[in-house]
Amino acid sequence: MNVSVPKEVAAGERRVALVPEVVERLVQSGLEVTVESGAGQGAHHPDAAYVAAGARTGDGLSGEVVAKVAPPTGDEIGRLEQGSVLIGFLQPLTDPEGIARLRERGVVAFAMESIPRITRAQSMDALSSQATVGGYKAVLLAADRVPKLFPMLMTAAGTIAPVRALVIGAGVAGLQAIATARRLGAVVSSFDVRPAVKEQVESLGASFLELGVRAEETEGGYATELTPEQQALQQTALEERIPEFDVVITTAAVPGRPAPKLIPASAVERMRPGSVIVDLAAESGGNCEVTVPGEVVEHGGIAVVGTTNLPSLMAYHASQLYSRNVAALLQHLAPEGELHLDWEDEITSGACVTRPEPEEGD
Ligand code: NAD
Repeated sequence: MNVSVPKEVAAGERRVALVPEVVERLVQSGLEVTVESGAGQGAHHPDAAYVAAGARTGDGLSGEVVAKVAPPTGDEIGRLEQGSVLIGFLQPLTDPEGIARLRERGVVAFAMESIPRITRAQSMDALSSQATVGGYKAVLLAADRVPKLFPMLMTAAGTIAPVRALVIGAGVAGLQAIATARRLGAVVSSFDVRPAVKEQVESLGASFLELGVRAEETEGGYATELTPEQQALQQTALEERIPEFDVVITTAAVPGRPAPKLIPASAVERMRPGSVIVDLAAESGGNCEVTVPGEVVEHGGIAVVGTTNLPSLMAYHASQLYSRNVAALLQHLAPEGELHLDWEDEITSGACVTRPEPEEGD
């Protein structure tokens, strides 16, 4: 089986779907790997490292299996072979046209976002691996901008109070943000609409902010969308508490839906000058009313960071983790080194977003 890896073409995408370390393992297990020249450059892996790992350089879109990070462009879809298997972040809930194009092309597509979040599939969970990197980086972006030291310092010139950080949304990214902010010395509070996370937040040494807003938790562990009344209640409660914080990291998301608007402009205006908001939900519209996706805006002395694709800013480790997720999925789809797609299997059928219609009698 041949696995190909193209160079990512999306603006600002520095990650690569397979790193040399993982390629070496795949080659040893009998797979052939073709990597487009320059594919690993953004993640600091030169072509020579891939060749040393046993890959060859060539067309990254021509394999029986193509491993990507970002959704393919129309041009890339046109270059995929009919019947080939595509693995990547494909945005199945928010980009139905892209999925339709893959279907028309006759591609068997597996979306990393659709891998069921069950224990058996944990090693393939790229949403989690990339959210971990994003949560970490969000805190570093905040620390870099806030004109304060994170830790409490006792110096000859007197004591400096620690930064007070608020992390809204305590899923995978939020929990990593809490842990990172704590390691830097901040006093951290967190809020989530799923009451179940209170214990996790507290076990990381942060305090859980009671805002009196709760949402149902779906079977998959996700939050449901708030009603407009609940959302208004949350905004009012946050507006009251937000001026206490120097740094706010927001990660609130509901799969397939625009990010919930949690922080109105009026709340930003109540924060102390020099405070920073990092909006990890910028890509899906942002949790803050003044967020501009892809930009950093100053709003009355408050920096609102809407930088998107934070994992790409940590391309080395983000790619390493992502590659291991891809390799785990490959191992699942081709346990003996050849594709064996078992549609009865929960992971295979759950992750697959387009496949050929079964023939009569199949
Ligand atoms: P996500 O990115 O979809 O959302 C981030 C967080 O935002 C969630 O915790 C959500 O509850 C919260 N949120 C939504 N609306 C909000 C609002 N209005 N205000 C405040 N917070 C709000 O979530 P995720 O990080 O992908 O994790 C979702 C769930 O999946 C979690 O329960 C996590 O533990 C679970 N999970 C399970 C596995 C596994 O079992 N293999 C792996 C990873 C994650």
